[in-house]
Amino acid sequence: MKTVRERSSQRGKICQPTSNTLPIFKRYDRKQDGRDLFIYGTKCHNLPWQKELPPLSDKPQSHLRWHPLRQEWVCYAVHRQNRTFKPPAAYCPFCPTRTDILPTEIPYRDFEVAVFENRFSAFAAQAKTIPQLSIDSAPAIGRCEIIVYSSVHEGSLGTLPLKHLELIVRVWRDRYQDLMARESIQFVMPFENRGEEVGVTLHHPHGQIYAFSYIPPVVAKMQQAFREKPILQELRQTMGREYYLFNDDRVLAFVPPFQRYPYEVWLTTHQFHPGLWTFSEAEITSLANTLSQVVRLYDRLFDRPFPYIMLLYAAPKGEESYFQFHIQFLPCLRTADKLKYLAGCETGAGTFLADLLPEETAARLRQLRDEEKL
Ligand SMILES: [Zn+2]
Repeated sequence: MKTVRERSSQRGKICQPTSNTLPIFKRYDRKQDGRDLFIYGTKCHNLPWQKELPPLSDKPQSHLRWHPLRQEWVCYAVHRQNRTFKPPAAYCPFCPTRTDILPTEIPYRDFEVAVFENRFSAFAAQAKTIPQLSIDSAPAIGRCEIIVYSSVHEGSLGTLPLKHLELIVRVWRDRYQDLMARESIQFVMPFENRGEEVGVTLHHPHGQIYAFSYIPPVVAKMQQAFREKPILQELRQTMGREYYLFNDDRVLAFVPPFQRYPYEVWLTTHQFHPGLWTFSEAEITSLANTLSQVVRLYDRLFDRPFPYIMLLYAAPKGEESYFQFHIQFLPCLRTADKLKYLAGCETGAGTFLADLLPEETAARLRQLRDEEKL
């Protein structure tokens, strides 16, 4: 691999391509409080380091406690109570640091995509002291990263140019490769919460990446299902085309015939892949294009930015032969102004009461897709 070294600032270490084909460049820096910062781009980033946000006075502390009836870990991250909540419009911690404003998380005047450890991380790389309890507890080992999709404050996966979306997909791939190579990490999940309806407090286009030291319960169930049979490959072959939204010969976006959330959409590939790390360049382009189409379709549905949770599910460590990479969009709007709440039956019993039939939502989205010529 060709390595490009640049003395770009007093802090910039190495700016290097992450692969031989269609390289993306990665610059590494360490913040004053020890957190990693990566700047990714289609060219080498060499802007000088600006002012930095001062470190927090309290070090993050979190731990896990075992819930004996649900048979799952609960993560206590009480320092997160103090995280940035709807800052004033003039100040955004994910914008580039410009001379006339307060320092942000990204101490450069500009960047293409930035990734850094969350200032209010729920997990930590090293074991912290945990309280002595009468129940099972454990250190909350892992890592929480923020991925800032663009230096521009407005926008979404639906408005960014296709080439930029391809860069984001490649950044996710690089983060998977970096995090999954760590001994303590078992499962990595990039995701995006979009909209105040799902609790978003910072509106700059961004997502998150959680790296877990254990297999979380929802993923453990999927893992079991994939071990028994190739669920997504069978589904693709058996469900009718009336569930299809976007389909090229590489990536398929569809409404699952068992949707739980209104207007739920999944993305999968025609070829089996455990994760983005085995995608071809053509599949990366298809995935970026399909992501853009789905988000644009959602935003046209009620003519407003459509709130959702987007989840990237790749194989946990050791499950690469069975577990198929896919993306789930879980929206929370039933109508333009009605939310889907997880109430007694969903929360208490785990049984979803769905208000819309998957066939109806697929037909509505397909009609809109044709009207909008997406
Ligand atoms: Zn911003």
